[in-house]
Amino acid sequence: MPVIKPTCVRDLKLRVNLADVVARTVTLRKAGGTRLKGLCPFHNEKTPSFNVDPDKGFYKCFGCGKAGDAITFVRETEQLTFSEAVEALGKRFGVPIEYEAGSGGPSHEERSLRQEIFDLHDAAAEHFYQAFKARDATGDFFRGLWTEKRKFPMELADEFKIGAADENGSGLGAVMLRRKFSEEALRKCGLFFIYEDTALTLHALRPRFRGRLMIPIRDHQGRVVAFTARQTERTPEDDPAREAKYVNSPETPIFIKSNLLFNLDRARTAVGEGKPFVLVEGQLDALRCWSVGLKTAIAPQGTSITEGQLVLLRRYHTQVECFFDSDSAGQKAALRFLPMALKAGLEVRFLTLAGAEKLDPDLLFLERGLAGYDEVRRDAQSAMTFACRAALPDPMTASAEQKSRAAQTLFEIIANSESEVTRSQFLGETSSHLRLPLAAAQKDFQTFLQRQGRQIAARAEAAGPPLDSSPTPAASAGQTPERHLLLLVLHYEALGRPLGTTLPHDWIDTGHTAGVLLNRFLGEFEQDAWPGAQHLDSLLETAEERALVAHLMFEAPALDDPVKVAQEGLRQLRARSLEPRLREIELALANPHADIESDPISLLKELSELQRQLRTPLVLAAAV
Ligand code: ZN
Repeated sequence: MPVIKPTCVRDLKLRVNLADVVARTVTLRKAGGTRLKGLCPFHNEKTPSFNVDPDKGFYKCFGCGKAGDAITFVRETEQLTFSEAVEALGKRFGVPIEYEAGSGGPSHEERSLRQEIFDLHDAAAEHFYQAFKARDATGDFFRGLWTEKRKFPMELADEFKIGAADENGSGLGAVMLRRKFSEEALRKCGLFFIYEDTALTLHALRPRFRGRLMIPIRDHQGRVVAFTARQTERTPEDDPAREAKYVNSPETPIFIKSNLLFNLDRARTAVGEGKPFVLVEGQLDALRCWSVGLKTAIAPQGTSITEGQLVLLRRYHTQVECFFDSDSAGQKAALRFLPMALKAGLEVRFLTLAGAEKLDPDLLFLERGLAGYDEVRRDAQSAMTFACRAALPDPMTASAEQKSRAAQTLFEIIANSESEVTRSQFLGETSSHLRLPLAAAQKDFQTFLQRQGRQIAARAEAAGPPLDSSPTPAASAGQTPERHLLLLVLHYEALGRPLGTTLPHDWIDTGHTAGVLLNRFLGEFEQDAWPGAQHLDSLLETAEERALVAHLMFEAPALDDPVKVAQEGLRQLRARSLEPRLREIELALANPHADIESDPISLLKELSELQRQLRTPLVLAAAV
């Protein structure tokens, strides 16, 4: 082990300003004298109690008690060892690190795996960027795509290091082997498919990204931790995710999707008074915003927004403007986002354009630049106005029953806010939108809270302690094809994508938890956003869903041929959804005097179509 000279450590601490070190993670404000204050990175808080004294070189949080110097700060926020933290600081601030004689510098084996994967991503981003800039056929194609098809300026590509992976993966494997990255780092970095168990040769390193436009994903400190790869005409036929528009890096030791927001590293320094975060749906939307001068745009990683992402956001600014597509998927995502945002203590507004049929942030900014932003801001809706309109678009003509259902939806959202002021303000808006007396709305909300409290308690009891309870007879009685397929997908994840593409959504019964989850999970597989069975937190919404997944994860299905079992599940779902109609038609045809709704010819046609569908062999879309 190389040992860093103690004099060098002392020297480093003198030369590095603690405020500069902390400012990469925490937004600091003046707090009297030379002291600074910010929101603590070690615990969740809403008023700053994290104090930094740059003169003394120490920080202390009066909330959770964490304290230390520049090296401790880097160790704890970046999960590094002492030597790694010293080396990282030295590199960042240009202080050379000296080692005790004879102990030698760090070799690749001795650096932490995480640090090595960071370095590897740095090298990969540079490599893809050089391929994008190269004056050759590949470079020309990707630059043309960027400037002519996507209408982005070249400066933006330089600023964000947009890259290119050619049909063969642009020789990334060779570069990585030449740089002598360790085998473990190569196996765990997520940039390659590696099949052989034997020593890594160039042949064994099959690049994950081929024929795609490469967008580097940076963490909140600006380090490249992953890539999003956009499909192009050059994406080869044998790409396992050929049809996926976007392919993301899988989760790795340095890339946890649920904790990451695209462009947060830059946006967090641009937010401030009157300049809230602007949450858009995709990375290219965020890049478009940046290119027109809207520097506070961020995008979730993958399709769903998680609580972890919002807590991270809350550290830098409390106001968020949500700007999603005006199509129904975008609006649904916006509604899902709202309760989590309230829970995280964020103030949310929704950007819309009055009178616009369809609103696409990318197109709007491309056509109108920053003026488009001013325009949608003028029409912005408060969180509750947006939710009220989504829950009940036309209160004038709504029935009492529709109003009561809308009220329940809105109560669920309001209950997520912990602030009494916010709650009573939202209740006021709800009652006036639904045209209910305020006192009645308040009373109903109290009843709702009591019932919700009882339900949570009952569910917790029903779920029981998941660890020591073996599958109960009641649980196995609930065996449906959905539950069975869910179990398969959780334990044989490779089946997820083919199942997603083969199984029509309307065959799934979403009237019970297993069906709801199967439907949701297959959707994630289809969009290539499956986070892995070990990282499902962001996809689970209720206590029941968590309990079911926990239960299924403890089951260990030992199957000789999971593909065959999956196909049997598919067959059962197909029979269940098509056969009742088949029986109905047969009955109608057998009884010509019956009052049938359509003519016999079209019934016969429908019958033979159903019979054809039921006879077709069910084969999973792709080899597993
Ligand atoms: Zn703290």
